[in-house]
Formats: sequence, structure tokens, C-alpha cells
Amino acid sequence: MSIQQNLLELKSTLPSSVTLVVVSKTFPVEDIREAYNAGQRDFGENRVQEMTEKQPLLPEDVRWHQIGHLQTNKVKYIAPFVYLIHSVDSEKLIKEINKQAIKVQRTISVLLQIHIAEEEQKFGFDFSEAEELLKEDLVSQFPNIRIIGLMGMATFTDDSSRVRKEFSGLHDFYQKLKAKNPQFTTLSMGMSGDYHLAIQEGSTMIRVGSKIFGRR
Ligand SMILES: *Cc1c(COP(=O)(O)O)cnc(C)c1O
Repeated sequence: MSIQQNLLELKSTLPSSVTLVVVSKTFPVEDIREAYNAGQRDFGENRVQEMTEKQPLLPEDVRWHQIGHLQTNKVKYIAPFVYLIHSVDSEKLIKEINKQAIKVQRTISVLLQIHIAEEEQKFGFDFSEAEELLKEDLVSQFPNIRIIGLMGMATFTDDSSRVRKEFSGLHDFYQKLKAKNPQFTTLSMGMSGDYHLAIQEGSTMIRVGSKIFGRR
């Protein structure tokens, strides 16, 4: 199966409420172009260096999503063009994104990454930290950032009931926050191995790589 066939087949199964971000990390620009030519515009990368190398080689209307952990000293490289940062995991990072957004006269949309997996090493806020953060007057503190939702990664396991529980917990939390934060539009959860479950549990944005491009 070609990249285009994989993409179109996947897209034909998605509800219209779900946005597909095609995760192109480690795959060459030619592969991205093939997906682009099939109509795909949202692409995700997890390393800043890789994203900044690929971005100038592709059309201007590609929407670049930063999905991997972002170090504060790298924000300046993606601030001029990044479409959505999924992996905001500290107030320090919010402050830096706001600063760099001001420099390039943009408002940058971000998601708060929430820690839902049982693994220790994953980045992210826990529920109470995120709730506290959103109580602050973020609009006046960080005028060039818009927090439009949440991102989460489930535990890497074959136990689908566990994955489902983690996604549904994140969805409940998202709904609770959305009631007080009307700018919330996006719940980013689900990858190649678990996006079916994520969509059933209320995801609005999935990040899928290997299912489209093949194994890394
Ligand atoms: C790599 C990656 C994905 C996509 O993973 P696949 O299994 O290739 O679909 C999604 N989200 C994040 C944060 C990633 O790093």
C-alpha cells in the first residue's frame, strides 16, 4: 500500500469531528510531499531541528504541529511558523513561548500536555497542576498564547481497558475545563496503535505516523 492509499483509507474512517495530524518524524520530505499531494496539511514532528529543516522545503500552507517535548531554548526556532504546540508541560515554557510569539508578532496556540500514563518518564502536568494553572489570569500574563485544549499519551500496553480508562479520564477532565474555558476546542489523544479507542473516548485530534508511513 502507498502512503496516499494508507492516508485516504484512514481518513475515510474518521468522524468529521476528528482532525488527523500525520506524524512525519524520521520520514523524508518526499514522503510528506506525497501525503500533501493527497490533500493532507497537518503534520507533526517531535524534534525542533527536524521540523525547522523540513519546513522550508514544503509549501507554506503546511500546518506544523510540535508534538514532542520542547526545551525552552528551542522555542525561538519554531515560533515564526509553528501552528500548534501539543507538548506544553511547564509555566516556564508558556512564558518563553509568549516571549518569542511577541517577537514575531504572532499568537501561538498550545495544548497542555497531561500525564495520564502509568510510566514515570512521560512529561506533562497532572490534573491538579493544570487546573491551578488555568485559574491564573493567563490572558493578561501571556497575551500572545492561546491555550486551546489538552494532549495526552496513554500507557504503552496491550491492555486496551487500561488505555481506554486513561483516555476517558482525560476526556472527563477536558470537559470539566472546557466548561470554564470556552476557548477549549482540542483534545489531542490517539496514535497509530490506539487512535480507535481515543476516538471512542472523545478525542478531537489524533497523531498518527507509522500507520501511514510504515515502520520507522
Ligand atoms: C511518534 C509520536 C506519535 C505517532 O506515533 P505512531 O505510533 O507512529 O503513530 C504520536 N505522538 C507523539 C507525541 C509521538 O512522539
